[in-house]
Amino acid sequence: MTDPAERTYLGQNRRSAELYARAERVLPGGNTRTTVFFTPYPFYAVRGEGFRVWDADGNVRVDFLNNYTSLILGHAHPKVVAAIAEAAARGASFAAPTEYEILLAEELCRRVKSVERVRFTNSGTEATMLAVRAARAYTGRPKIAKFEGGYHGSHDYAAVSVGPEPDRAGPAESPEAVPDGPGIPDAVLGTVVVLPYNNLEAVSRILEREGREVAAVIIEPLLGAGGAIPAAPEFLRGLRELTRRLGILLIFDEVIAFRLAYGGAQEYFGVGADLTTFGKIIGGGLPVGALGGRAEIMDLFDPRRPDRIGHGGTFNANPVTMAAGLATLAELTPAAYEHLNRLGELARRRLRRAFERLEIPAQVTGAGSVFAVHFTAEPVTDYRSARRGANPQLLRRLHLGLLNEGAIIAPRGMGCISTPMTETEVEFLGQAVERALAAP
Ligand code: PMP
Repeated sequence: MTDPAERTYLGQNRRSAELYARAERVLPGGNTRTTVFFTPYPFYAVRGEGFRVWDADGNVRVDFLNNYTSLILGHAHPKVVAAIAEAAARGASFAAPTEYEILLAEELCRRVKSVERVRFTNSGTEATMLAVRAARAYTGRPKIAKFEGGYHGSHDYAAVSVGPEPDRAGPAESPEAVPDGPGIPDAVLGTVVVLPYNNLEAVSRILEREGREVAAVIIEPLLGAGGAIPAAPEFLRGLRELTRRLGILLIFDEVIAFRLAYGGAQEYFGVGADLTTFGKIIGGGLPVGALGGRAEIMDLFDPRRPDRIGHGGTFNANPVTMAAGLATLAELTPAAYEHLNRLGELARRRLRRAFERLEIPAQVTGAGSVFAVHFTAEPVTDYRSARRGANPQLLRRLHLGLLNEGAIIAPRGMGCISTPMTETEVEFLGQAVERALAAP
């Protein structure tokens, strides 16, 4: 049974349907990145420029997803393209360091006070995996605490309680560790402590009990995949104090949240971390990740130490990615963040107005340049309240309807601003939402 939004989508995306049918023969479910799949099938991108993306059928859409918040300057920014071309022309990668990695590490250390040393990786997944390893090595403790609904990539320790069924996940104040799909050994589950977001009292209770075993708490200061839910500043401050008192390292996963301010989430919320993971925007659209933190922890990776943590990676800090990241960060001045965050606030307000006009109960969450829609009348502050607001039918109508209207957001209702956007694109989004969800 196809609904009207799907019928329109099928009509507009015939060439993508052909490509998807071919993909199904060589990729499982036609897919090689779970995040970009949606039914009936995704459109195939052919070109991006600024805030626009062209697909295989010639549809042009305004991109509010920006490869899941990565493309903060939009697509194919001329300075980033030039930096990539120049670096690639000199050799894409070497079994030797280049000056580029020093420059990008210096830039991150300059921007984030708690970051004194950096290791580069090729993805956010690797960065959080490395953070977990470093925390265990530094503290000598076996467990890791993460938040329910928190997404830190796809390695085993991160693939716990990312999107559990609430009735299988234990009490809200003391959630159980639920594997995110098959193949996660019990031995891994037993080392992951799950915490409720924005609930300091419950977190204190759990960590007071488990604390001596816990190496680190890893938190997204803006719960990203879990619904763009900002941490309350007093919650983050309390967590900082609590972890310090219990000898637990605090890891900020800023793979998304680094886009909140010039100095990332630590500047935005005014709370520092021991370790920070980066990704997305610091690679200027190319594969990237990084782990940064206090020298005394990061020096565990010093290869001159007989007891060092080994960390290889054929493409770590390759000059093309480093050059793209440097060119991107060079554009991200304090004024650029002001522009991004002002439009982000405008987008959240415009979306709220759209839902008021449509008389659809909804919450619009987010911070800085990130926004997300939840179909509930109740405030959304953590994974469970976001989950109560998940209305799969309405979300699907919003997502497919927006694609039909020429706007891209995530199927789960999240979006973000890129620097080339203006108030015109925000107003376009508001009107597109009103058309997409207007009664048929
Ligand atoms: N941490 C967070 C907060 C993320 O949002 C993501 C990806 N969306 C990751 C880690 C994993 O990064 P990657 O996809 O580069 O492995």
